Amino acid sequence: MSNPLLYDIKFLQGVGPARAQLLAKELNIHTFKDLLYTFPFRYVDKSRFYTIAEIESTSAYVLLKGKILSVSEVGEKKGRRLVALFSDGTAKIELVFFQGIKWLSTSLRLNTEYVVFGKPSIFNNTINMVHPELELASTYSQERQSAMVGIYSSSEKLRNSGITNKVFTKLVKNLLNYILPTLEETLPEYIIREHNLISLKDALLNIHTPTSAVALESARYRLKFEELFILQIRLLRQKSVRMNASQGILMPKVGEKFNAVYKKLPFDLTGAQKRVIKEIRSDIISGKQMNRLLQGDVGSGKTMVALLTSLLAVDNGYQSCIMAPTEVLANQHYKSISKMVEGTSVSVELLTGSTKVKERRRIHEALISGETDILIGTHALIEKDVVFKNFGFAVIDEQHRFGVEQRSRLWSKSERLPHVLVMTATPIPRTLAMTLYGDLDVSVIDELPPGRKAINTIHITDNRRVELFNFMRKEISLGRQVFVVYPLIKESEKMDYKNLEEGFDLIKSAFPPPQYCVAVVHGKQKPEDKDFDMQLFASGKANILVATSVIEVGVDVPNASVMVIESAERFGLSQLHQLRGRVGRGSEKSYCILVTGYKLSNEAKNRVELMCSTQDGFVLAEADLKMRGPGDMQGTQQSGLPIDLHISNLSKDTPILEKARGVAISVLEDDPSLILMKNKLIIRQLEDSDNNEILDFSKIS
Ligand code: ADP
Ligand code: MG
Repeated sequence: MSNPLLYDIKFLQGVGPARAQLLAKELNIHTFKDLLYTFPFRYVDKSRFYTIAEIESTSAYVLLKGKILSVSEVGEKKGRRLVALFSDGTAKIELVFFQGIKWLSTSLRLNTEYVVFGKPSIFNNTINMVHPELELASTYSQERQSAMVGIYSSSEKLRNSGITNKVFTKLVKNLLNYILPTLEETLPEYIIREHNLISLKDALLNIHTPTSAVALESARYRLKFEELFILQIRLLRQKSVRMNASQGILMPKVGEKFNAVYKKLPFDLTGAQKRVIKEIRSDIISGKQMNRLLQGDVGSGKTMVALLTSLLAVDNGYQSCIMAPTEVLANQHYKSISKMVEGTSVSVELLTGSTKVKERRRIHEALISGETDILIGTHALIEKDVVFKNFGFAVIDEQHRFGVEQRSRLWSKSERLPHVLVMTATPIPRTLAMTLYGDLDVSVIDELPPGRKAINTIHITDNRRVELFNFMRKEISLGRQVFVVYPLIKESEKMDYKNLEEGFDLIKSAFPPPQYCVAVVHGKQKPEDKDFDMQLFASGKANILVATSVIEVGVDVPNASVMVIESAERFGLSQLHQLRGRVGRGSEKSYCILVTGYKLSNEAKNRVELMCSTQDGFVLAEADLKMRGPGDMQGTQQSGLPIDLHISNLSKDTPILEKARGVAISVLEDDPSLILMKNKLIIRQLEDSDNNEILDFSKIS
């Protein structure tokens, strides 16, 4: 039997081909199911009749019952309207109609009871209601009355084509009438019972046409719970499949190379670094494959953890790689790691896109012979011809910048699945991490190395650039260096480059040679030019580095003490925070200056104020999530989430998420393969959502 949920929406009573096309185009509604799961985004209260006397100018939609006292046509041309004076005995109100005047003037009845629904407003000192819904009281309330009326997303086109909220609601009602009687439950009966959920039918009925606020809440809860529960089941199953399938390489030994490097560290590890290294060590001696996400704010010392844990692998006879998203970063890792292993027998190599052929050949040989311990590089190190002797440990820095396919190629480098450590400087709020990376174990470095000074964050408007330049001159005269960053957003790339070029020219003329040296890096340069300018700045020769947001990913120039962010209103919080993290690494007092236009949207104002008030990456990430929603979390270059949440909101539904995760865990403990009859509905949902696959982070990272 065919499934009515999958019927083409054009077959629904009241739709037809023309409306179907509109619904598909405007709201992405193609099937009965699509409409069934298109929920109102807000509700208005129809649970009681208001009296006109209690209406205030600010009242939201209200329901009134009363009689029309008189009807008159007033105004000229466009202002022509029909005004019906309406009273419920407590006071009077004007009902105003600009359209359908002819028809209304003949059909409206005086001294007959009407039910009126609409939004009151004040005009010329009288309360009126423009285009209210109007119904004879005698025919009202025959149908099941919904106390709250759902307001659905709409569009100009839909409204112009007559699909008003009222019509849309009618379509939904037709659908509910048709589909609910035969609709099957989607959650196992025992879960519904144990967790006091309402049935799917009741939930759908009450999400569209709630009988009360309480009923609406239970409907929402049930639907959100289900969505998050199924998501967690899928994530947990992926994890257990991986855990069972993979034999983790055993790395029990703490050996000579680890100890040699550890002993010569110029500082003590922070408590958080030590804890994370212990967590990783317990993974690699567990016999299971490690798949761990390491979160740590910029400057928290993740590289050190990458190095030391790589050395654990090396001491057990395995090679390791550290993969960075850009050449600049790979170079920097190579430099700092080489320094840390100096004087020990650890062998480190660097392989990037610009490694010369001869050098490349030498590196390939050293790798295959097993001479190289740690290979550092960009995606060049996942090329086919890069062959290890005994690969066992992979570190991926700033993972979100790697494509899925690139990561899976890393797999083919070893016979057994290597242990994988993914490092990210984007602090991901717990809720999101649980969902996004439900399959990964998460470690957090929540402590910065001692002695870091707070970064003074200041907001200025762009008409104060003269002062800004003076400030920069002063800092430079003290021997410090300055970053100036311009946004680069894909959609407006051309404009952005223009801004950068103009900014660069302006800065060059304000900071002329020979007194000053200004470097510039951006995505359109040849790699040689970019490296040259980058080097100019990193070596301290250039006083100012003008850049697009490419520098975001982690250059370490301890002498840089000022970060100027131009058009700061165009950056997301996470990005601003990443950029700010480029300064404040040395012992000098550091500044982050957010330059914006004079007029800011409320949201932009909020972001700027937050940046000025806190330096805690997690606080900012939480706020970012709340403000922008998770799809945008990782900055403007990012695509959305790997998952598509329909009704739940990760920033607001944490308690439901945690509950759903707990239930998912206990269901799987009880029936790991979901073979029991009682869980058959769960399996069915997993199959249904297969074409809506979540990225499997265990296979790609
Ligand atoms: P991340 O990659 O997490 O942004 P890095 O690994 O680049 O941070 O470390 C930032 C700086 O802090 C580096 O210069 C590093 O040498 C230094 N550092 C790392 N760990 C410590 C520590 N425990 N104590 C002092 N300095 C440290
Ligand atoms: Mg780093």
